Amino acid sequence: MAAQLPQLVFGLPNSDGTGSSSSSLLNCPVDCVVEVLALLTPGDILHLARTSKHLRAFLLSKRQRYIWKESFLNLEGPRLPACPPGLSEPQYANLVFSCHCHSCFKVHNYVVDWDLRVRYCSKCKRDHTRKFNKENPPKLSCDPGVDVQKLISIRPPTMGPAFLYTDLGVATRTYEALDPEARLKYLVSSNRALVDRRIHARECRAWVDEIARQAALAREALKSERVQAIHDRLEALGWSEELRANTLCPHGSLATQYNAIAGKYEALTDLGWVVVKPRLEALLTEVRRLESVRKASLAESARRAAELLKLSPREQRAAAQREHRSWIEYLKGQRKTGKTPPY
Ligand SMILES: [Zn+2]
Repeated sequence: MAAQLPQLVFGLPNSDGTGSSSSSLLNCPVDCVVEVLALLTPGDILHLARTSKHLRAFLLSKRQRYIWKESFLNLEGPRLPACPPGLSEPQYANLVFSCHCHSCFKVHNYVVDWDLRVRYCSKCKRDHTRKFNKENPPKLSCDPGVDVQKLISIRPPTMGPAFLYTDLGVATRTYEALDPEARLKYLVSSNRALVDRRIHARECRAWVDEIARQAALAREALKSERVQAIHDRLEALGWSEELRANTLCPHGSLATQYNAIAGKYEALTDLGWVVVKPRLEALLTEVRRLESVRKASLAESARRAAELLKLSPREQRAAAQREHRSWIEYLKGQRKTGKTPPY
């Protein structure tokens, strides 16, 4: 029976001594709490573990690995590579989902170094990593002939070859403590683990790229939906003619302004529509005015061309020359006043 199960008590009791101050969830039987926590994602559990030392101790105990394992299965989107050997699930969650620098704990979305399995701010990166020079590689003091590339993880040459200074220290101490036969075995197993680690790092980078690709697609879809929604609303208000691509696009700066307002990467809300509607209608009003000027100009040109066609060829040539001279005079006048012809 649930009432007989051991209960989990996190946080401090309330001032009146009645139960925990954290949450009524914490007064539930352990099995129930575990089942609820197993529905969360690794990032959620990570944040939860940082809310109190009691929760942290509970979630980081080996007995609760089930919660972490389940949490990775709850992730949506592209499949995250499985937790690799050498890292526990909480460590892997910390690498993938934490936004802290792993050394100074400054909060920022620092980029994960998948090969070195760390997330550092720029200062800590400088402090903890060393450049790897293939021509002059670091050496183990106890056995300078050993190829350290078989003992420590080194970032690939294409990404700026580097290693963790602490990794070199750990490898040196471990290697030093072994007898010659065990050293050989250690080198073989370490090299094998590093090959797997490089493959895992590559898969993680591909996972990040895929997330970015899908996020970009989602952003584009959001933008398209917004543009269409605005278009539909303006059309319903009687702006169909001005919204046609061959009407709007020739008005370069107006079209650019329209696209900047309509083509944002955000959903169109009713409040957002109230804000953008007057701005867009002002632009379309100007498009309508310019279109009417252009159409009047075209009609006038057509009328004059029709009149020319009624004349004899000699009269047409004379009229064309007059037209040409008056157009030259017109352009000279425009250059002086700095105005540009309407079309
Ligand atoms: Zn840092």
